[in-house]
Amino acid sequence: MLADLSLDLASSVMLDARNTFGTVVMMRPPLLALFILMVFAAAAPAGTIIHAGRFIDGRNDEPRGKTSIFIDEGRITQVVDGFSDPKPGDRVIKLVDCTVMPGLMDMHTHLQSQHSKDSYTERFFMDQADYALRSTVYARKTLLAGFTTVRDLGDNGVNSISLRKAIGEGWVPGPRIFTSGKSLATTGGHADPTNSLRGDYRRDAGPLEGVINGPDDARKAVRQRYKEGTDLIKLTATGGVLSLATNGQNPQFTDEELRAVVETAHDYGMIVAVHAHGAEGMKRAVLAGVDSIEHGTFITDEIIGLMKERGTYYVPTLLAGEWVASKAKEPGYFPEVVRPKAASIGPLAGEAFRKAHTAGVKIAFGTDTGVSPHGDNAREFELMVAGGMPPMRAIQAATRTAAQLLKIEDRLGTIEPKKIADIVAVEGDPLKDIKAMKNVVFVMKQGEVFKTP
Ligand SMILES: [Zn+2]
Repeated sequence: MLADLSLDLASSVMLDARNTFGTVVMMRPPLLALFILMVFAAAAPAGTIIHAGRFIDGRNDEPRGKTSIFIDEGRITQVVDGFSDPKPGDRVIKLVDCTVMPGLMDMHTHLQSQHSKDSYTERFFMDQADYALRSTVYARKTLLAGFTTVRDLGDNGVNSISLRKAIGEGWVPGPRIFTSGKSLATTGGHADPTNSLRGDYRRDAGPLEGVINGPDDARKAVRQRYKEGTDLIKLTATGGVLSLATNGQNPQFTDEELRAVVETAHDYGMIVAVHAHGAEGMKRAVLAGVDSIEHGTFITDEIIGLMKERGTYYVPTLLAGEWVASKAKEPGYFPEVVRPKAASIGPLAGEAFRKAHTAGVKIAFGTDTGVSPHGDNAREFELMVAGGMPPMRAIQAATRTAAQLLKIEDRLGTIEPKKIADIVAVEGDPLKDIKAMKNVVFVMKQGEVFKTP
């Protein structure tokens, strides 16, 4: 810019020498331009430069060495090799012993709760305000663990929508939330809120609460979520581990119901995330055109083939499998209707992941945190690498691939000019030791720093 201007000045002076009558006229525009530039430079807010010792941009398979990342007004403006000198007033953040990467994204969280022995009874004692205040603590932990974006997949119907607003307004710190609100289930299914309650509480829940029977209910339940302001739809295509029901894997939606959910959701610009353990329910969901399969415990070669053909994402939630399997060994931790499901389904998550990864299914990072404790999300990276995924791929699953699943890759998921400045750093080299992902020392979300070494 300055170089361009001085060239203009030089050429105008040369013209002046040949035409004395035009001197004043010829000098004026370039000088004015210089004046405007100086005033602008004095008034421009200082930018931020991150000096990254090691740099993973989320896009390339190879890390880079010393890199400078320029940030202005919440956006990345420039990425250059080496450590650039700051202009006067610029803020420099030195992360020279760290690996710097895009803000991490967890595609499966439940910020409303965290599983404990009291989980099955707390709803009789917790008000909405209690849930809301507690979830701010979980949101903060998630952000400080390096997760600047999450997909929240199932709550009581209001909590995550209010939390999304509170974080968006800057009232509380937390990740950017894309929420499904209340999960959709069929009567007695994995997300029916009245399962196993005593008779007078066991009401006939309907589409308003996300419980559907038949395609008309399915459409109404999706439209209800849209009305409430959710970003996407979650449905529970098979039984699940933690619900108070005997079967953890049976199909719970008909083809017609699944198609009605998917078609309506897509009409409203919402993707569909599907909880599935058993193969039959999973296959029906994939054939109905859902966008992601969560858990996928009993995935088969046939389903893997269908998912590859249709571009369906797989969100493995290995951490939830590990967590329920370990708690199933603790006597009395789970109610007896849950314990056998946790003991049999939990340990199988790793094998499903290995199969899907080897076959080349698109895998996006997701933990089901809220089952396991909030803030421990990065343990999933270790489990993915133990399951055969190279560390760089695992990091990409939590950055670029997750952004693609959410259809926000035009603004998030990689560190490139024009993208929103969600940037985190870990100490050491996660490509050599993936455990480093658990030690996030720097968190920037949309240009704002929430954690520094
Ligand atoms: Zn879940």
